[in-house]
Amino acid sequence: NTSEMQLLERRLDAWVAASRPYTSGGKVASYIPELSKAPKDALGITILAADGKAASSGDSELRFTLQSISKVFTLILALMDNGEAAVFAKVGMEPTGDNFNSMLKLELVQPGIPFNPLINAGAITVSSLIRGSSPAEKSARILQFFRRLAGNSRLAYDTGVYLSESETGDLNRSMAYLLRDHGVLEGKVDEVLDVYFRHCSIQVDCADLARMALVLACGGVDPLTGETLIPRRCVQIAKTFMTTCGMYNASGEFAIQVGLPAKSGVSGGVLAIVPGRLGIGVVGPALNAKGNSCAGVHLLETISKEMSWSMF
Ligand code: GLU
Repeated sequence: NTSEMQLLERRLDAWVAASRPYTSGGKVASYIPELSKAPKDALGITILAADGKAASSGDSELRFTLQSISKVFTLILALMDNGEAAVFAKVGMEPTGDNFNSMLKLELVQPGIPFNPLINAGAITVSSLIRGSSPAEKSARILQFFRRLAGNSRLAYDTGVYLSESETGDLNRSMAYLLRDHGVLEGKVDEVLDVYFRHCSIQVDCADLARMALVLACGGVDPLTGETLIPRRCVQIAKTFMTTCGMYNASGEFAIQVGLPAKSGVSGGVLAIVPGRLGIGVVGPALNAKGNSCAGVHLLETISKEMSWSMF
């Protein structure tokens, strides 16, 4: 409601200023070389309400790639394309407690399916389930879907990040070969990975992220156009994964300290939602040891506590 947004507008700059020093405790991701160029001390946020009112502060216009945040939306598209039963025959529903790029448990659980769709092994499997007659068509469908969710027809790839990730993606590649051997992943490994690397490298700013988040917050309806973009059940599944595995191995701690469904990426982006009301996009490229934006998490913690937003 209006008074909530007025309060946010009044206090957001001070909260961002108080969280910005936390950028110095983190490191910008460098395993994808192109990501290491991101500004270490940046911090920005946009909060978008269902009536279209927005509050932004800090470096909210910084452009960054979605990385793992894209996994939430490819999961949704795969569910819309194939239905629940087909998707969950290939990926599980449980958190791992392992790193996002771990292969450890792929050998443990029969029949060798990834634990959940938000770890890399699960997300690569999900990429293989996107409908389309060629990798180019699958990627085009994903980009088109993301553009509609963000209400931004100009969303595009960061080609530098895409190439950098593709060149250095051997761990993801090896995971995909293992999954193919298990009969979980179908199709050509290189083609599936191309779809995966491309959706990770879609570039956004905090306003794009907030708009995508708002659609989830509103049960799949874009409140600004009135259009239903996602079936409610798919949103429910996505929000549940965000709550249980959205913040890597810090998802439990984040649920306690912030208490909102969220998904982070190694670019330092965080998408969070206040169910029924608000979409939030945050960026802060310096990451903590768990791979989440240091200052971004601090900022969300501050705001959630001040505004009593926890769902729990
Ligand atoms: N594209 C990244 C990778 O596969 C995504 C990782 C992330 O954001 O967690 O390594």
